[in-house]
Amino acid sequence: MTKIPFLDLQQVNQPYMAEIKEKVFQSLYSGKYILSDCVREFESAFAAYCGSKYCIGVANGLEALVLIFEGYKILGLLQTNDEVIVPANTYIASIIAVSRAGLKPVPVEPDIRTYNINPDLIEQNITEKTKAILAVHLYGQCADMDAIKKTAAKYKLLVIEDAAQGHGADFKGTKTGNLGDAAGFSFYPTKNLGAMGDAGAITTNNKDLSDIVASLRNYGWGEKYNCIYRGYNSRLDELQAAILVFKLKYMDDEINKKRKLASLYKSLITNREILLPFEAAYGRHTWHLFTVRSEKRDRLAAYLHEKGIGTAIHYPYPPHKQKAYKEWNSLNLPVTETICQTILSLPMNTALNEEYIHIISEAINKFK
Ligand SMILES: *Cc1c(COP(=O)(O)O)cnc(C)c1O
Repeated sequence: MTKIPFLDLQQVNQPYMAEIKEKVFQSLYSGKYILSDCVREFESAFAAYCGSKYCIGVANGLEALVLIFEGYKILGLLQTNDEVIVPANTYIASIIAVSRAGLKPVPVEPDIRTYNINPDLIEQNITEKTKAILAVHLYGQCADMDAIKKTAAKYKLLVIEDAAQGHGADFKGTKTGNLGDAAGFSFYPTKNLGAMGDAGAITTNNKDLSDIVASLRNYGWGEKYNCIYRGYNSRLDELQAAILVFKLKYMDDEINKKRKLASLYKSLITNREILLPFEAAYGRHTWHLFTVRSEKRDRLAAYLHEKGIGTAIHYPYPPHKQKAYKEWNSLNLPVTETICQTILSLPMNTALNEEYIHIISEAINKFK
Protein backbone atom coordinates (compact mmCIF):
# COMPACT_ATOMS: atom_id res chain seq x y z
CA MET A 1 0.00 0.00 0.00
CA THR A 2 1.35 3.41 -1.00
CA LYS A 3 1.37 5.73 2.02
CA ILE A 4 0.44 9.29 1.13
CA PRO A 5 0.96 11.68 4.06
CA PHE A 6 -1.17 14.81 4.22
CA LEU A 7 2.00 16.90 4.15
CA ASP A 8 5.67 15.99 4.53
CA LEU A 9 7.71 19.21 4.72
CA GLN A 10 10.97 17.29 4.51
CA GLN A 11 9.91 16.16 1.03
CA VAL A 12 8.47 19.51 0.05
CA ASN A 13 11.75 21.29 0.86
CA GLN A 14 14.09 18.52 -0.33
CA PRO A 15 14.65 19.88 -3.88
CA TYR A 16 15.92 23.17 -2.45
CA MET A 17 18.10 21.96 0.40
CA ALA A 18 21.52 22.10 -1.26
CA GLU A 19 21.12 25.72 -2.31
CA ILE A 20 19.39 26.76 0.90
CA LYS A 21 22.29 25.30 2.86
CA GLU A 22 24.65 27.56 0.94
CA LYS A 23 22.49 30.65 1.50
CA VAL A 24 22.05 29.95 5.19
CA PHE A 25 25.75 29.36 5.74
CA GLN A 26 26.59 32.57 3.90
CA SER A 27 24.32 34.39 6.33
CA LEU A 28 25.81 32.58 9.35
CA TYR A 29 29.37 33.41 8.27
CA SER A 30 28.48 37.05 7.59
CA GLY A 31 28.20 37.75 11.32
CA LYS A 32 25.20 40.02 10.62
CA TYR A 33 22.22 38.43 12.29
CA ILE A 34 19.55 41.05 12.92
CA LEU A 35 17.68 43.20 10.36
CA SER A 36 20.50 43.05 7.86
CA ASP A 37 21.05 42.27 4.16
CA CYS A 38 18.84 39.17 3.91
CA VAL A 39 15.83 40.88 5.51
CA ARG A 40 16.24 43.92 3.26
CA GLU A 41 16.63 41.73 0.19
CA PHE A 42 13.51 39.76 1.03
CA GLU A 43 11.49 42.88 1.79
CA SER A 44 12.22 44.45 -1.57
CA ALA A 45 11.67 41.17 -3.45
CA PHE A 46 8.34 40.50 -1.74
CA ALA A 47 7.10 44.08 -2.18
CA ALA A 48 7.94 43.78 -5.89
CA TYR A 49 6.18 40.42 -6.09
CA CYS A 50 2.98 41.76 -4.49
CA GLY A 51 3.16 45.05 -6.38
CA SER A 52 3.09 47.02 -3.13
CA LYS A 53 5.37 49.95 -2.34
CA TYR A 54 6.54 48.71 1.06
CA CYS A 55 7.19 45.40 2.78
CA ILE A 56 8.27 45.06 6.41
CA GLY A 57 9.49 41.66 7.57
CA VAL A 58 8.23 40.60 11.00
CA ALA A 59 8.42 37.56 13.26
CA ASN A 60 5.17 35.81 12.26
CA GLY A 61 1.73 36.24 10.72
CA LEU A 62 -0.15 36.94 13.92
CA GLU A 63 2.15 39.80 14.83
CA ALA A 64 2.06 41.16 11.27
CA LEU A 65 -1.66 41.75 11.80
CA VAL A 66 -1.27 43.06 15.37
CA LEU A 67 1.37 45.56 14.22
CA ILE A 68 -0.88 46.80 11.40
CA PHE A 69 -3.70 47.47 13.88
CA GLU A 70 -1.29 49.08 16.38
CA GLY A 71 0.13 51.18 13.55
CA TYR A 72 -3.30 52.50 12.64
CA LYS A 73 -3.92 53.33 16.32
CA ILE A 74 -0.75 55.43 16.31
CA LEU A 75 -1.94 57.10 13.10
CA GLY A 76 -5.21 57.93 14.87
CA LEU A 77 -7.38 55.93 12.46
CA LEU A 78 -8.22 53.28 15.05
CA GLN A 79 -8.88 53.54 18.77
CA THR A 80 -9.09 50.98 21.57
CA ASN A 81 -12.51 49.25 21.56
CA ASP A 82 -13.24 50.12 17.93
CA GLU A 83 -15.00 47.30 16.10
CA VAL A 84 -13.43 45.30 13.28
CA ILE A 85 -15.53 43.11 10.98
CA VAL A 86 -13.92 39.65 10.78
CA PRO A 87 -14.96 36.44 9.02
CA ALA A 88 -16.59 34.00 11.45
CA ASN A 89 -15.00 31.19 9.42
CA THR A 90 -11.26 31.69 9.69
CA TYR A 91 -8.19 30.48 11.46
CA ILE A 92 -8.37 31.77 15.03
CA ALA A 93 -5.19 33.89 14.66
CA SER A 94 -7.08 36.37 12.44
CA ILE A 95 -9.40 37.09 15.33
CA ILE A 96 -6.78 36.99 18.09
CA ALA A 97 -4.86 39.70 16.22
CA VAL A 98 -7.84 42.05 16.48
CA SER A 99 -8.32 41.30 20.19
CA ARG A 100 -4.58 41.62 20.94
CA ALA A 101 -4.61 45.13 19.48
CA GLY A 102 -7.36 46.14 21.93
CA LEU A 103 -10.06 46.13 19.24
CA LYS A 104 -13.35 44.28 19.13
CA PRO A 105 -13.78 41.59 16.45
CA VAL A 106 -17.32 41.26 15.04
CA PRO A 107 -17.82 37.89 13.30
CA VAL A 108 -19.66 37.72 9.97
CA GLU A 109 -20.82 34.50 8.31
CA PRO A 110 -19.09 33.16 5.18
CA ASP A 111 -20.35 32.50 1.67
CA ILE A 112 -21.01 28.75 1.68
CA ARG A 113 -19.34 28.33 -1.73
CA THR A 114 -16.04 30.20 -1.25
CA TYR A 115 -15.88 29.84 2.59
CA ASN A 116 -14.74 33.48 2.67
CA ILE A 117 -16.68 36.30 4.35
CA ASN A 118 -20.10 36.92 2.79
CA PRO A 119 -19.90 40.57 1.71
CA ASP A 120 -23.71 40.90 1.67
CA LEU A 121 -23.79 40.38 5.44
CA ILE A 122 -21.18 43.00 6.34
CA GLU A 123 -23.40 46.08 6.23
CA GLN A 124 -25.93 44.78 8.78
CA ASN A 125 -23.06 44.27 11.26
CA ILE A 126 -21.70 47.81 10.97
CA THR A 127 -22.20 50.14 13.92
CA GLU A 128 -20.94 53.61 14.90
CA LYS A 129 -17.83 51.90 16.31
CA THR A 130 -16.92 49.91 13.19
CA LYS A 131 -13.65 51.17 11.74
CA ALA A 132 -12.16 48.32 9.71
CA ILE A 133 -12.82 45.09 7.83
CA LEU A 134 -10.35 42.20 8.07
CA ALA A 135 -10.52 40.34 4.74
CA VAL A 136 -9.09 36.82 5.02
CA HIS A 137 -8.18 34.95 1.82
CA LEU A 138 -8.96 31.50 3.15
CA TYR A 139 -7.40 28.31 1.75
CA GLY A 140 -5.63 30.28 -1.01
CA GLN A 141 -8.67 31.97 -2.58
CA CYS A 142 -9.22 35.72 -2.47
CA ALA A 143 -12.13 37.18 -0.57
CA ASP A 144 -14.59 39.15 -2.74
CA MET A 145 -12.57 42.37 -2.59
CA ASP A 146 -14.76 44.54 -4.87
CA ALA A 147 -17.81 43.97 -2.70
CA ILE A 148 -15.81 44.38 0.52
CA LYS A 149 -14.18 47.59 -0.68
CA LYS A 150 -17.50 49.02 -1.83
CA THR A 151 -18.97 48.67 1.67
CA ALA A 152 -15.71 49.93 3.21
CA ALA A 153 -15.80 53.03 1.02
CA LYS A 154 -19.43 53.73 1.92
CA TYR A 155 -18.67 53.68 5.67
CA LYS A 156 -15.05 54.93 5.45
CA LEU A 157 -13.58 51.74 6.88
CA LEU A 158 -10.02 50.48 6.60
CA VAL A 159 -9.56 47.23 4.69
CA ILE A 160 -6.85 45.00 6.12
CA GLU A 161 -5.96 41.75 4.37
CA ASP A 162 -5.09 38.64 6.33
CA ALA A 163 -3.08 37.12 3.47
CA ALA A 164 -1.53 34.36 5.60
CA GLN A 165 -3.12 31.77 3.27
CA GLY A 166 -3.24 33.94 0.19
CA HIS A 167 0.32 34.38 -1.11
CA GLY A 168 0.27 34.79 -4.86
CA ALA A 169 -3.53 34.80 -5.19
CA ASP A 170 -5.05 37.60 -7.22
CA PHE A 171 -8.31 39.50 -7.46
CA LYS A 172 -8.96 40.52 -11.09
CA GLY A 173 -5.21 40.48 -11.72
CA THR A 174 -4.13 42.43 -8.61
CA LYS A 175 -2.14 40.38 -6.14
CA THR A 176 -2.94 39.91 -2.47
CA GLY A 177 -0.89 42.27 -0.36
CA ASN A 178 -1.98 45.08 -2.66
CA LEU A 179 -5.77 44.80 -2.39
CA GLY A 180 -6.46 46.85 0.73
CA ASP A 181 -4.84 49.43 3.02
CA ALA A 182 -2.34 46.94 4.44
CA ALA A 183 -1.82 43.19 4.50
CA GLY A 184 -0.36 40.69 6.95
CA PHE A 185 1.42 37.58 5.66
CA SER A 186 2.60 34.46 7.47
CA PHE A 187 5.48 32.31 6.25
CA TYR A 188 4.75 29.48 8.68
CA PRO A 189 6.38 26.38 7.11
CA THR A 190 3.12 24.92 5.72
CA LYS A 191 2.02 28.09 3.90
CA ASN A 192 2.38 28.61 0.15
CA LEU A 193 5.53 30.59 0.87
CA GLY A 194 6.97 28.68 3.80
CA ALA A 195 10.03 29.48 5.89
CA MET A 196 11.84 26.85 7.98
CA GLY A 197 10.64 28.32 11.22
CA ASP A 198 8.44 31.31 12.00
CA ALA A 199 8.32 34.40 9.81
CA GLY A 200 5.86 37.02 8.59
CA ALA A 201 5.55 40.32 6.73
CA ILE A 202 3.40 43.39 6.27
CA THR A 203 2.80 45.01 2.89
CA THR A 204 1.26 48.44 2.30
CA ASN A 205 1.38 51.43 -0.02
CA ASN A 206 1.12 53.84 2.93
CA LYS A 207 4.54 55.30 3.82
CA ASP A 208 3.46 56.53 7.26
CA LEU A 209 2.10 53.11 8.24
CA SER A 210 5.20 51.43 6.81
CA ASP A 211 7.52 53.64 8.87
CA ILE A 212 5.51 53.06 12.04
CA VAL A 213 5.35 49.25 11.75
CA ALA A 214 9.06 49.13 10.84
CA SER A 215 9.71 50.95 14.10
CA LEU A 216 7.18 48.93 16.14
CA ARG A 217 8.78 45.59 15.19
CA ASN A 218 12.07 46.88 16.63
CA TYR A 219 11.07 48.15 20.13
CA GLY A 220 9.52 51.30 18.67
CA TRP A 221 12.89 52.84 18.04
CA GLY A 222 13.28 56.06 16.09
CA GLU A 223 17.02 56.30 16.10
CA LYS A 224 18.95 53.55 17.90
CA TYR A 225 18.16 53.33 21.65
CA ASN A 226 15.62 56.14 21.40
CA CYS A 227 12.00 54.97 21.47
CA ILE A 228 9.16 56.85 19.82
CA TYR A 229 6.62 54.10 20.53
CA ARG A 230 6.21 51.36 23.12
CA GLY A 231 7.02 48.73 20.54
CA TYR A 232 7.61 45.03 20.19
CA ASN A 233 10.40 42.70 19.30
CA SER A 234 8.89 41.16 16.19
CA ARG A 235 11.79 41.13 13.76
CA LEU A 236 12.06 38.81 10.78
CA ASP A 237 15.11 36.60 11.36
CA GLU A 238 17.99 36.85 8.87
CA LEU A 239 18.19 33.08 8.34
CA GLN A 240 14.48 32.83 7.61
CA ALA A 241 14.78 35.82 5.27
CA ALA A 242 17.64 34.07 3.43
CA ILE A 243 15.42 31.00 2.96
CA LEU A 244 12.45 33.12 1.88
CA VAL A 245 14.43 35.08 -0.74
CA PHE A 246 15.31 31.76 -2.28
CA LYS A 247 11.89 30.13 -2.02
CA LEU A 248 10.04 33.19 -3.35
CA LYS A 249 11.71 32.60 -6.72
CA TYR A 250 9.99 29.21 -6.93
CA MET A 251 6.62 30.11 -5.44
CA ASP A 252 4.80 30.69 -8.73
CA ASP A 253 6.10 27.39 -10.12
CA GLU A 254 4.88 25.65 -6.98
CA ILE A 255 1.46 27.30 -7.18
CA ASN A 256 1.17 26.29 -10.85
CA LYS A 257 2.06 22.72 -9.98
CA LYS A 258 -0.67 22.73 -7.33
CA ARG A 259 -3.14 24.17 -9.85
CA LYS A 260 -2.51 21.18 -12.14
CA LEU A 261 -3.00 18.77 -9.24
CA ALA A 262 -6.20 20.60 -8.23
CA SER A 263 -7.75 20.38 -11.68
CA LEU A 264 -6.82 16.71 -11.80
CA TYR A 265 -8.62 16.13 -8.49
CA LYS A 266 -11.60 18.02 -9.87
CA SER A 267 -11.77 15.95 -13.03
CA LEU A 268 -11.20 12.61 -11.27
CA ILE A 269 -13.39 12.84 -8.15
CA THR A 270 -16.92 11.89 -9.19
CA ASN A 271 -18.36 10.61 -5.90
CA ARG A 272 -21.63 12.48 -5.26
CA GLU A 273 -21.03 12.34 -1.51
CA ILE A 274 -18.16 14.78 -1.97
CA LEU A 275 -18.50 18.50 -2.67
CA LEU A 276 -15.49 19.84 -4.57
CA PRO A 277 -14.02 23.29 -3.92
CA PHE A 278 -15.61 26.20 -5.78
CA GLU A 279 -13.40 28.67 -7.64
CA ALA A 280 -14.76 32.20 -7.92
CA ALA A 281 -14.35 33.79 -11.37
CA TYR A 282 -12.75 36.99 -9.98
CA GLY A 283 -9.31 35.49 -9.40
CA ARG A 284 -7.21 32.37 -9.39
CA HIS A 285 -7.09 29.95 -6.49
CA THR A 286 -3.59 29.12 -5.21
CA TRP A 287 -4.53 25.95 -3.31
CA HIS A 288 -2.88 26.57 0.01
CA LEU A 289 -5.41 23.88 0.91
CA PHE A 290 -7.62 21.66 -1.23
CA THR A 291 -10.76 21.33 0.85
CA VAL A 292 -13.76 19.16 0.02
CA ARG A 293 -16.96 18.86 2.03
CA SER A 294 -18.99 15.81 2.96
CA GLU A 295 -21.85 15.07 5.34
CA LYS A 296 -19.88 11.89 6.12
CA ARG A 297 -16.61 13.77 6.74
CA ASP A 298 -15.42 11.82 9.80
CA ARG A 299 -16.12 8.46 8.17
CA LEU A 300 -14.41 9.61 4.97
CA ALA A 301 -11.30 10.72 6.90
CA ALA A 302 -11.15 7.39 8.77
CA TYR A 303 -11.66 5.47 5.52
CA LEU A 304 -8.82 7.32 3.78
CA HIS A 305 -6.59 6.93 6.83
CA GLU A 306 -7.13 3.18 6.63
CA LYS A 307 -5.99 3.31 3.02
CA GLY A 308 -2.80 5.13 4.04
CA ILE A 309 -4.00 8.54 2.85
CA GLY A 310 -3.55 11.45 5.25
CA THR A 311 -6.11 14.24 5.55
CA ALA A 312 -6.60 17.21 7.88
CA ILE A 313 -9.43 19.44 9.07
CA HIS A 314 -9.15 23.20 8.64
CA TYR A 315 -10.70 23.89 11.05
CA PRO A 316 -12.52 21.55 13.43
CA TYR A 317 -13.62 24.25 15.93
CA PRO A 318 -15.15 27.53 14.82
CA PRO A 319 -13.66 30.53 16.64
CA HIS A 320 -17.01 31.35 18.28
CA LYS A 321 -17.16 27.95 19.98
CA GLN A 322 -13.73 28.21 21.58
CA LYS A 323 -13.08 28.93 25.25
CA ALA A 324 -10.93 31.97 24.42
CA TYR A 325 -14.09 33.60 22.99
CA LYS A 326 -16.55 32.65 25.75
CA GLU A 327 -18.70 35.69 25.03
CA TRP A 328 -19.37 34.27 21.54
CA ASN A 329 -20.14 30.69 22.57
CA SER A 330 -23.90 31.13 22.25
CA LEU A 331 -23.80 32.96 18.89
CA ASN A 332 -25.79 31.39 16.10
CA LEU A 333 -23.48 31.10 13.07
CA PRO A 334 -24.88 28.08 11.20
CA VAL A 335 -22.92 28.47 7.95
CA THR A 336 -19.60 28.54 9.82
CA GLU A 337 -20.67 25.53 11.88
CA THR A 338 -21.75 23.57 8.80
CA ILE A 339 -18.36 24.21 7.21
CA CYS A 340 -16.48 23.11 10.34
CA GLN A 341 -18.56 19.92 10.55
CA THR A 342 -18.16 18.91 6.90
CA ILE A 343 -14.80 20.25 5.67
CA LEU A 344 -11.85 17.97 4.90
CA SER A 345 -8.46 18.90 3.41
CA LEU A 346 -6.99 16.39 0.96
CA PRO A 347 -3.23 16.12 0.35
CA MET A 348 -2.17 19.14 -1.76
CA ASN A 349 1.52 19.92 -1.94
CA THR A 350 4.45 19.90 -4.34
CA ALA A 351 5.77 16.53 -3.10
CA LEU A 352 2.74 14.91 -4.78
CA ASN A 353 2.46 13.90 -8.42
CA GLU A 354 -0.37 12.93 -10.74
CA GLU A 355 -0.12 9.27 -9.78
CA TYR A 356 -0.86 10.10 -6.15
CA ILE A 357 -3.87 12.20 -7.15
CA HIS A 358 -5.18 9.23 -9.14
CA ILE A 359 -4.75 6.91 -6.14
CA ILE A 360 -6.49 9.33 -3.76
CA SER A 361 -9.32 10.11 -6.19
CA GLU A 362 -9.97 6.42 -6.90
CA ALA A 363 -10.13 5.70 -3.18
CA ILE A 364 -12.58 8.57 -2.71
CA ASN A 365 -14.75 7.40 -5.59
CA LYS A 366 -15.14 3.99 -3.92
CA PHE A 367 -16.24 5.56 -0.63
CA LYS A 368 -19.92 5.02 0.26
C1 LIG B 1 -1.26 30.99 9.65
C2 LIG B 1 -2.28 32.04 9.80
C3 LIG B 1 -2.11 33.14 10.64
C4 LIG B 1 -1.00 33.23 11.64
O1 LIG B 1 0.26 33.15 11.13
P1 LIG B 1 1.48 32.69 12.10
O2 LIG B 1 2.69 32.93 11.28
O3 LIG B 1 1.27 31.26 12.45
O4 LIG B 1 1.44 33.58 13.30
C5 LIG B 1 -3.06 34.14 10.62
N1 LIG B 1 -4.15 34.05 9.83
C6 LIG B 1 -4.37 33.00 9.02
C7 LIG B 1 -5.58 32.99 8.15
C8 LIG B 1 -3.45 31.95 8.99
O5 LIG B 1 -3.69 30.90 8.20
